Parts: sequence; structure tokens; C-alpha cells
Amino acid sequence: MNLILIGAQGSGKGTQAQRLVALLHLRSCASGELLRKAIAQGTPLGRAAQPYLDRGDLVPDDLIIGLVLDCMEHRGDVQGSVLDGFPRNVAQARALDERLMERRQKIDAAAYLDVPREMLLDRLSGRYVCRAAEHVWNVKTNPPRVPGICDYDGSSLYQRPDDTPEKINRRLDIFFNETIHLTDYYGLQGKLLRIDGTGAIDDVTHAIVSGLSEERVNRAVG
Ligand code: AMP
Repeated sequence: MNLILIGAQGSGKGTQAQRLVALLHLRSCASGELLRKAIAQGTPLGRAAQPYLDRGDLVPDDLIIGLVLDCMEHRGDVQGSVLDGFPRNVAQARALDERLMERRQKIDAAAYLDVPREMLLDRLSGRYVCRAAEHVWNVKTNPPRVPGICDYDGSSLYQRPDDTPEKINRRLDIFFNETIHLTDYYGLQGKLLRIDGTGAIDDVTHAIVSGLSEERVNRAVG
């Protein structure tokens, strides 16, 4: 199963992706994380992407599509992939569908985590990620057991450089002007699950997993 998580920064995509990976035996392909790794490794792609990330702008489509497809390709012992942060616009979604069709694969569902902008701003101001694996924590809503340390791997937590108020607003503008149209794109394909992302983390996970199983039942019946 290939699942897309659509959601603004702070909607809980990263947190839910981590849980779905464990629950459904999926591989996580988080485009932002893949780009930050390429930057840290100093690859040509990383060097080309860096100025865009620094500004909070989207990188050009051709830089990101190959990176995500490559991540989906390394299947190993998993049931599919959960895409977090990709696609970010309809052009990327179309390109993804085309490239997957060539490989006889497809996207099965797209879950939109719906959270109002004011709540996103509040959540992002408290967000920290771990250095080892970008596990996401929040000092207000989802604190680690030991302050400043990741529960999962013991690495230290830091605030992302693009989580400043100015860049957060820039990234949210892009989401609500551009990325949001993915809900129509996947809605028309009958693949959209609209999830209330304002509730507790466990409730959101439950809503996604039950939405996915209902979807499977509907398809089997239909
Ligand atoms: P994220 O970690 O998902 O918030 O992504 C961080 C940054 O990586 C974004 O602000 C963009 O600069 C870049 N990025 C991540 N995913 C994409 C994408 N699908 N298309 C273009 N740029 C992306």
C-alpha cells in the first residue's frame, strides 16, 4: 500500500507517518528529510536545493521527484510507502502517478490532516526534532520524557532553522495556496480521506487507520 499524508507544517504529518510506518509496516519517504540529508552530505542535489530550503520555498519539481521515487524503490521487508511532504502540488502529483504507472504501482489513498492555521502556528512554535532521525516532539502537545532528548533514540532535539515565524508563514502560504489543491486531485480519484487533525495524536492515528480499512472494504465491495 502506498499512502500519502497531506497536511500543512504542524498538522502532525511527521508524527503520524512514524506511527503508520510501525503499524502498517510501511517505509517512510519524507521529502524534507531526504533533502536535508542530501544537503548534509553535500551532494550536488543537496547544494542545488539548499537556497530553496533556506528561504522556505519549494525546490524545483525535478530535484525532488527522483529522490522520492528512489526512496519508494528500496522496498526491503515492507508493505509499501507512506509519503510525507510529497507531492506538494498537482504537477508533482501527476508526475508521481505517471512514474508509478510505469512501474505498475499506484497511490492507494491520500489522508488530509485538516488543522486550522491558528492552531498550526501555535504548534510550530513548540516543535523540536531529533538529530538522529527527525522524530518530531512538541514542548506543549507532545513532550519527550526527558526534556531535550528523543525518547526513541536518545539523540538531542533542536528547532529547525526554517521554523522561524517568518519562514513558517511563508511555508503555510504555499500550503494553503498550492498544496491544498491536492485534496481535489485525490478527491476526484476517490482516494481522499479527510481527517480531523485537531484531536489527540492517538485519535488521529485511529481515524487514519479506520479510514484506510473502510476504504479497502468499499473498494472490495465496489
Ligand atoms: P518539510 O520538512 O516537509 O517541511 O520540507 C522542508 C523544505 O523542503 C520545504 O520548505 C521545501 O523547501 C523542501 N521540500 C520538501 N518537500 C518538497 C516538495 N515535495 N517539493 C518541493 N520542495 C519540497
